[in-house]
Amino acid sequence: MRNPFRHPKPPGPLPAPLTREECERIWTWERWMMGFYAFAMIAILGTVSLAGVMGHSTQGRLVVVGVLVLLALAGAFVQFREKCPRCAARLGRQSRLLLPDKCRHCGVEFPRPPRKPPGGTAR
Ligand SMILES: [Zn+2]
Repeated sequence: MRNPFRHPKPPGPLPAPLTREECERIWTWERWMMGFYAFAMIAILGTVSLAGVMGHSTQGRLVVVGVLVLLALAGAFVQFREKCPRCAARLGRQSRLLLPDKCRHCGVEFPRPPRKPPGGTAR
């Protein structure tokens, strides 16, 4: 008799590897995420220093809080927009910024984007 607790999740057939187009899509999303975070950092620094120039007025604080809330909302939107091409699990729930190695839901692997070696002559 099989013990159902020994293998709570029997390894089913692995999902087909991602196609080139699906890879491109998740890589684009990852670049978006990194670009957005870089932008958010600059925006936060700029807002905070601007608020410092304006002094600690109520208005200045409101502007800072407003910008932070907007950035958080936009970040959440960008992060949870993309889904696993195989099982449609939200990628944003699996990783904060970078693409996970593989989908935690269906186990499909997310290959890393090809990196150009700095000053390399590869191809
Ligand atoms: Zn998946």
